[in-house]
Amino acid sequence: MDIVKSMLDDAPINIEAIIRSLGQEVVKDADLPADISGQIKKLPDGRYELSSSAGEHYYRQRFSLAHELGHYILHNSLIGAGLDDNTKYRSTSEGNYYNTAIELAHERQANSFAASVLMPEKLVRKAIDEANGDVSLSDLYRKFQVSASAMNWRLRNLGLTKYVKGAG
Ligand SMILES: [Zn+2]
Repeated sequence: MDIVKSMLDDAPINIEAIIRSLGQEVVKDADLPADISGQIKKLPDGRYELSSSAGEHYYRQRFSLAHELGHYILHNSLIGAGLDDNTKYRSTSEGNYYNTAIELAHERQANSFAASVLMPEKLVRKAIDEANGDVSLSDLYRKFQVSASAMNWRLRNLGLTKYVKGAG
């Protein structure tokens, strides 16, 4: 995991490189069914393919891939043949799989994992400190290449909204 650790030292986090360094496949801009944001499927060789929908903004695709990585790391025994995440990051029957082993608590864990990987606390605090009190939500979400709402949630969870203009 040392290789992965060194990939968490600078924003934006290269989520695709992290997934590949763990030996798994990544398909960005994937042709997924309507209303599916992300998917993870087991490949014949036992590895997994993590995909994000071509229909969504690059920043959101990054979050979807990080969310699927969360399922890979935290819920490996529950993935089975695969699972789909809809636009609310819920396991759903609308995609290629309908994985009923994945419950709401698992989705929350995967979201929390994704936020921690894409917006490491150390790097978020550093970005705020270096700005000397002059930093906005859009400065931060662009720096970390995540959506405004993902960054706002992260700041809220870290208790840092008061230091960032436009966050709350
Ligand atoms: Zn999910």
